[in-house]
Amino acid sequence: MSIATSATQDLNALEQVLSARRVLFVGAHPDDPDAFAAGTVARLTDAGAQVRYVVATSGDKGVPNGEPDPFRFIALREDEQRRSAAYLGVEEVIFLRHRDGEVYDTQELRGQIVREIRRLKADLVITHDPLTRNLRQHPDHRAVGFATLAAVFPACRLETYFPEHAADGLEPHIVHMLLLGGGEPNLWIDISDTFQRKIEALRLHETQFGQRDWDDMLERWRKRAADSGAPAGLTYAESFAFAYLD
Ligand SMILES: [Zn+2]
Repeated sequence: MSIATSATQDLNALEQVLSARRVLFVGAHPDDPDAFAAGTVARLTDAGAQVRYVVATSGDKGVPNGEPDPFRFIALREDEQRRSAAYLGVEEVIFLRHRDGEVYDTQELRGQIVREIRRLKADLVITHDPLTRNLRQHPDHRAVGFATLAAVFPACRLETYFPEHAADGLEPHIVHMLLLGGGEPNLWIDISDTFQRKIEALRLHETQFGQRDWDDMLERWRKRAADSGAPAGLTYAESFAFAYLD
């Protein structure tokens, strides 16, 4: 058995992704944007991109034992995500407040995602890969991935989908590029220079990582970024499945 040491990737696609001007990350839970893409987001905002996050739930199933007030916990998780987003230069986080662990690919969710795509006029959308064979993929990630796929094609580009958006001045819009995280990658983004900021962004999710041994967590994140980078010969990377949608 051989171990791949280099992967060919479409350098033109890589350049287009990194020069995107308006980027929407659609994730299931607070901390998903940071876990999947913080290093990439830091590169995009450094390059002047306008980046927003849509987060489908507020992570209420992650409530620790003994937390007496789930609403206080939700507010904490949202605040953590807003602070880590601000730290990376993200301009806005939109929380859809679906129940954690109970997200489905519904017309309502598709419409909420289409609305944010149209509002930002996103040229790049990043979300979870709903088609991964990884059976430990969180079902909320799959649901958000499927709903986002339906939103980017064809819903957001046709005025016959969610025509009620027109009343708010939102027009049909074509998304050019899609990145899916958590599946079989064909695009590797070098985060060697932004890895430390990814770690700092993750560290801001104190309700998730605060009680654990931070050195252990750091080593896990370091290994994950190194493993993602290895096929492309990069020290640290985030990897995605890329597709043009034109
Ligand atoms: Zn998640």
